[in-house]
Amino acid sequence: MKTIGIIGGMSYESTLHYYERINNQVNKLAGDLNCAELIIYNVNFQNIRKLMLEEQWDKISEEISRIAKVLENAGADYIAIATNTVHKIADYVQNQINVPLIHIADAVAEKCKESQVLNVGLLGTKYTMAEDFLKDRLKQNGLQVFVPSDEKQIDEINRIIFEELCKGEIKKESKQYFVDTINDMIEKDNISGVILGCTEIEMLVKQEDLTIPMFDTTQAHIDSIVNYSLEKTK
Ligand code: GLU
Repeated sequence: MKTIGIIGGMSYESTLHYYERINNQVNKLAGDLNCAELIIYNVNFQNIRKLMLEEQWDKISEEISRIAKVLENAGADYIAIATNTVHKIADYVQNQINVPLIHIADAVAEKCKESQVLNVGLLGTKYTMAEDFLKDRLKQNGLQVFVPSDEKQIDEINRIIFEELCKGEIKKESKQYFVDTINDMIEKDNISGVILGCTEIEMLVKQEDLTIPMFDTTQAHIDSIVNYSLEKTK
């Protein structure tokens, strides 16, 4: 079994799911008392968020790369960054280490392709929706990607993620806001699936709330991590 290194804490609410489900899935597949060989470096998200707001992505790159090297030196065979947004600097981090980084966009694109859903909506933080780093990676995987066209929707979704979901707050009206936004995109962009491109959205929006298939980056990333750890993926 390979050893996985996870850079977590962004937010810790979603890293909890990584820890629990990776162990659970490894146990289901390998049986008996098997669980994952797993090292988690949990960052203090407050520090990273401050750097995001100051647009100091060079400092975030340095810090996340430093942590990736700590995990590599501790014996991690693979690294996973347990958030979509910080994949903005994933290529930089990959270049600083000698082990593979399991990219969250590749993991979710694989799920979309398996379901033959190629025109998808993407919801996430403002960075993820307004910038190209995740969209481009999804497009390289053969997907057509749409984000909400109304800037107000992008701002409100971003607010809900940082002010509520990252603090573990689940509100009915916020769930409705996400569902309405997805329904708007079905109407305007004719999307046939939606990617939950933020690792906390799955806490709020469930498949039964939607009329189209949803692809959750948290679960897709976890599945990919488990496959790597059990060496089902080379
Ligand atoms: N976990 C979130 C994501 O997947 C947002 C928090 C962050 O900025 O990393 O994008």
